[in-house]
Order: sequence, then structure tokens, then C-alpha cells
Amino acid sequence: MPFIITDPCIETKDTACVDVCPVDCIHPRKDEPEFAQTTMLYIHPEECIDCGACVPACPVAAIYESIDATPAHQQDLVEANAIYRNGDADTMARAEEIVQAHIAAHSEIMAVPAAERQAAHARF
Ligand code: SF4
Ligand code: SF4
Repeated sequence: MPFIITDPCIETKDTACVDVCPVDCIHPRKDEPEFAQTTMLYIHPEECIDCGACVPACPVAAIYESIDATPAHQQDLVEANAIYRNGDADTMARAEEIVQAHIAAHSEIMAVPAAERQAAHARF
């Protein structure tokens, strides 16, 4: 079961997770052209080997260990992670559409600073 990136990554996007991933399954990297266009990063669900290295590397606790562990308010972003394929404009657009819908639907949570957003999910 793949790891999932969720909304504290939005506005953070520092790629600390990319630097520690042993199989390069988190995209886009800073050196990829899509980086400037994406609102957050995504984990390829079939390439992730469930090693867990990215979780402590993330400064805003944006990464969950499984779909089941991902909070209800963030389940829409499971699909965004599943869809995104680096180098494919269509899947990037579809994933970004989900992310923008998430931002619009969760304005209270998104108003919380990224570093406090993971904890804030329990209040909404
Ligand atoms: S769990 Fe491991 S393989 Fe999967 S995204 Fe995180 S660092 Fe990469
Ligand atoms: S470490 Fe966390 S905030 Fe940084 S890019 Fe990865 S998931 Fe996003």
C-alpha cells in the first residue's frame, strides 16, 4: 500500500522527501520542468516501496503511511497521488484539478499555516 502526500505539502513543497526516497518515486523533483506548475508533490503508488523514509523527513507531517491512515478530509488527495505521472500533462492536469477542488472545499483548513495543518485536521 503506497504512502500518500497530503495538503500540508501545499505552500511547503520543499522536496525534503525527494532527497531521502531511495527509489525516486516522489515527483516532480526541483530539476523537473513540472515542478513550477504543481501545487504539491505526489508519490507514485506502484513505485513506492513503503520504506517510510519520507515521513520523518517531511517538516509539516504531510505524508501518511497508507490510504487507510489518511484522514477523511484528505482522502481526495489519495486519488491525486494515484493519478499523477511525471511527464504526462494530462495526468498532471487531472491531479491538479483534484488539488484545487480540495483547496476550495477546505478553506478553513487551508487557512491554517502549513506547519499546523496536520494537527488542525482533527478539529474540522
Ligand atoms: S515510503 Fe519510501 S519509497 Fe515510498 S515515497 Fe516514501 S521514501 Fe519513497
Ligand atoms: S517533505 Fe513534505 S512538504 Fe516537503 S515536499 Fe515532501 S511532502 Fe511536501
